[in-house]
Amino acid sequence: MATLGELRARVLPPCPALDVHVHPLSCFSPYRIESVEQDVRCLREAAQRSGVTKVCVFSLHPTCPREPTVAQCQEANDYVLRMRDLAPDFFLPFCYVNPMYPGESVVEIRRCVGEEGMVGVKLWVSRRATDPGLDPIVGESVAQDVPILQHAWRKTTGNLEGESTPGDVAHLARRHPRARIIMAHLNGCNPRGIEEVADCPNIFIDTSGGDPERGVVELAVARLGARRVLYGSDAPIRHFGVSLAKVLGAELSDSVRRELLWNNAARLLPARAGVGVI
Ligand SMILES: [Zn+2]
Repeated sequence: MATLGELRARVLPPCPALDVHVHPLSCFSPYRIESVEQDVRCLREAAQRSGVTKVCVFSLHPTCPREPTVAQCQEANDYVLRMRDLAPDFFLPFCYVNPMYPGESVVEIRRCVGEEGMVGVKLWVSRRATDPGLDPIVGESVAQDVPILQHAWRKTTGNLEGESTPGDVAHLARRHPRARIIMAHLNGCNPRGIEEVADCPNIFIDTSGGDPERGVVELAVARLGARRVLYGSDAPIRHFGVSLAKVLGAELSDSVRRELLWNNAARLLPARAGVGVI
């Protein structure tokens, strides 16, 4: 009979995996996290059991407000900086800002990215990507040479007022052709969302959002090319292993899987992230 280690080896990815979309456990109420040290340990152990070796991490603040204050964004960012300091080989921190406060957001990006070494910017649901409040934020991200991860979804029940559709993200990408934009939630954006961003070469899609569905990752790769799709889990909302199976279970060659699991993120992150193409 195979040992547990042998069984695990059969389901691990064919190369190291970098997850571009992870939140601290402390952002979500079912997890009773009592310290940042415990958060780091539990998240890293869960990731590594699934074969995920590095993660881009961003906090939405423990209370997850849709319209966070400037102070709440700062608290969220200070938390992921502590995570990075506890495990610098594992966490690649992104700076969370709210486009309702464009000037303050630029100052926060300069603090977190320029001074503290964060490697990306995260935008969620306070304002749609068509909102002019995003423009100074994206301009500063370009100046700091970091990608922006923008939440997007197309909900059958209707989006939140400030929640971007893929079409909104395409609008943002056309306003800022030099920006590198990771649009979150492939399965939430669905095939129509893939079409809406297909002619924006500076939009990349992460594989998070919703359950694994047969054929969706293959469709994204066929329509956008193997260099514009990245593995992202949205852990702990989805388990690393479940979301990894979207890539491992897709009908793709191992060389294409390597692009999705590692190389595409390595090309999008700034050189100081220390993540090289393999
Ligand atoms: Zn998320």
